[in-house]
Amino acid sequence: MAYVITDNCLKDELCVDVCPTDCIHPKKDEPEFEAATQMYVDPEGCIDCGACVPACGSDAIFVADEVPEDKKEYIEKNAAYYKK
Ligand code: SF4
Ligand code: SF4
Repeated sequence: MAYVITDNCLKDELCVDVCPTDCIHPKKDEPEFEAATQMYVDPEGCIDCGACVPACGSDAIFVADEVPEDKKEYIEKNAAYYKK
């Protein structure tokens, strides 16, 4: 299980600031940031602490088994970002 960021993401990094394992990327100082349409959670690094959810003002983050039906593709999209 891991948390998943969906396309509601505004790339404002509010979640990055509270994530204890630094598993949300790309960050502003990374070369991929500009082109990315959203941030992604590394499922290998996420410890399911849930701290990112209340930090997000745009309801973009869900625990994997509660991702809405029409956003389920983002489970794989988050993982795929880290397989590049
Ligand atoms: S806090 Fe929400 S909107 Fe901001 S970068 Fe994280 S997921 Fe995206
Ligand atoms: S649940 Fe915790 S570890 Fe996982 S992305 Fe959110 S803040 Fe980071």
